[in-house]
Amino acid sequence: MSFELEELVRPNIARLQPYSSARSEFEGDAEVFLDANENAFGSPAGDSYNRYPDPLQRELKLRLGNLRGVDAENIFIGNGSDEAIDLLFRIFCEPGRDECIICPPTYGMYQVSAEINDTRIKFVRLTREFQLDVVNILEAISPSTKLIFICSPNNPTGNLMKRQDILKIVESFDGIVVVDEAYIDFASDSSLVNEIRSFPNLVVLQTFSKAWGMAGLRVGMAFAGEQVIQLMNRVKPPYNVSGIAQQAVLDAFDQNLQIQKWVSLLLTERERVRESLENMAIVETVFPSDANFLLIKAADSGDIYRYLINEKIIVRDRSSVILCEGCLRITIGTPDENDRLINALKKYDETRFANDVLPMRLGGL
Ligand SMILES: *Cc1c(COP(=O)(O)O)cnc(C)c1O
Repeated sequence: MSFELEELVRPNIARLQPYSSARSEFEGDAEVFLDANENAFGSPAGDSYNRYPDPLQRELKLRLGNLRGVDAENIFIGNGSDEAIDLLFRIFCEPGRDECIICPPTYGMYQVSAEINDTRIKFVRLTREFQLDVVNILEAISPSTKLIFICSPNNPTGNLMKRQDILKIVESFDGIVVVDEAYIDFASDSSLVNEIRSFPNLVVLQTFSKAWGMAGLRVGMAFAGEQVIQLMNRVKPPYNVSGIAQQAVLDAFDQNLQIQKWVSLLLTERERVRESLENMAIVETVFPSDANFLLIKAADSGDIYRYLINEKIIVRDRSSVILCEGCLRITIGTPDENDRLINALKKYDETRFANDVLPMRLGGL
């Protein structure tokens, strides 16, 4: 591998003179702030919200860095991890010319972001076991390939990609490999975050939206070598994470124990729901999961989906997704919510089984 960041970055981004905000030009111990045209009287929204937030979220990065064992220089904080995905396209992919590789079935935002940024996509399907097809991925790489997206644990299939497969791709590719670990807190294997030390072309995405319970605040993160993080900071909107969001995440770090308890309860519930589903005739397969959801395959997934809506339970219909024909993705809820799901499906299972043995129904097919 010969990773040269200078050759990878779009020339206009390499040349970019980033916006310099009032809050980033002055650092120090002043008492009177007349530099940012803020409302000096106060804010109806609450304490200190009249002031612009820290554009580089330094306190947050310090706490997060301690938690994850990385330096603040290796962390980017975004308005959701979706912002990090978009920034990577804008930094590395020349519209109308460059390419990325996406491995379906996977998270839909990679494709949407690629299309918004007019980046050609080469799709290399996962294998039947929902694992990376390393040979075909490496074969799909061209001189225009700038980004490869890997989701692990993968959405919507729920499984981890093999670590050695990911590292093989990172090692073999001169461009950027993005490993999306949105669900890593639920996984049986550890994060790849520590590998950013060895691989300057590795970007690991995580989010506060799932295990951390802050989807509404929109805070995501990228871990990478200092060079890539600096580029992301140059291209991002200066105040991309609001003051409320930064403060809420800081407060949440003190609730780390609560998060761990929720995660372990969720894992227990996931296996309980799995067992119930596996005992139902309507369910063909419950796929292995390292995430907070289960992907199931059922003969009449469309009917089940509509039936559940009628029961006021919404799951995600993934049956039109490649390799996920007949599949539903079910998020694990609270024990009560999971009971409601299980009971509703049991009822469906029983009536359907009863219907199946009726000659009327068979004749009608
Ligand atoms: C939910 C999810 C995210 C989270 O995105 P945010 O913008 O941080 O809320 C990222 N990647 C995957 C694969 C997801 O499923």
